[in-house]
Amino acid sequence: MILQLPSAIFLDMDDTILNATGSVDCCWREACETYAPQLMPFTSDALNAAIRAYSSWYWNDADRHRRGRLQLELARREIVEEALRRLGIDRRDIAYQLADRYSTLREAAIEPFPGAIDTLHRLRDRGSRLALLTNGNAISQRRKIDKYGLSSFFEIILIEEEFGVGKPDQRIYLHALEQMKVGPDEAWMVGDNLEWDVAGAQQVGITGIWIDLEGAGLLQSSIVKPDRIIRSLAELMP
Ligand SMILES: [Mg+2]
Repeated sequence: MILQLPSAIFLDMDDTILNATGSVDCCWREACETYAPQLMPFTSDALNAAIRAYSSWYWNDADRHRRGRLQLELARREIVEEALRRLGIDRRDIAYQLADRYSTLREAAIEPFPGAIDTLHRLRDRGSRLALLTNGNAISQRRKIDKYGLSSFFEIILIEEEFGVGKPDQRIYLHALEQMKVGPDEAWMVGDNLEWDVAGAQQVGITGIWIDLEGAGLLQSSIVKPDRIIRSLAELMP
């Protein structure tokens, strides 16, 4: 058990500070319900199932994922258009509207996890130096940072699109260490993604702490071995 806080803590944003994916199911359902009447005889459930199936395939590939997250709204439009086309529906206009509706709902639904902002305050009050390392495109990541006033907590903010590469490319962690003037043994990286936030950080010697959002524990087959597993940011406090 690690009891002392290190000199620097690098934090992920989505699904670490902000509940970013908790609303996925209900946002897709609502967007499908809105447009199903225009796509009869397909039911909202049938549309939803087709979109979710194609969406899982789309995001389950590192290269497509990178391209998609850097142009998120466009990626969602392509996903819905192709999912509908596989059902035999050739309606780009409705596909794009449905995807855009989903994007709007998702953005509105994102909010900090209970206690997350309070933990940032407490870490800062204890003198911990914080960096934010987040993958994704600049506009949507900056919008979230601004909406919740996150920039005041962080000495540096590195966003994949602005920096040029994202996690788990080791250049982003090395840049953060250099900017903060700390060694890897003086830093933790904390986040929900085993590959990006744990393995990526560990490869340069940073302690990798995994937030197990689901609470399901680490799969026995996991190649990535976090230095520590927590359920929420508040557990970081000694
Ligand atoms: Mg994350």
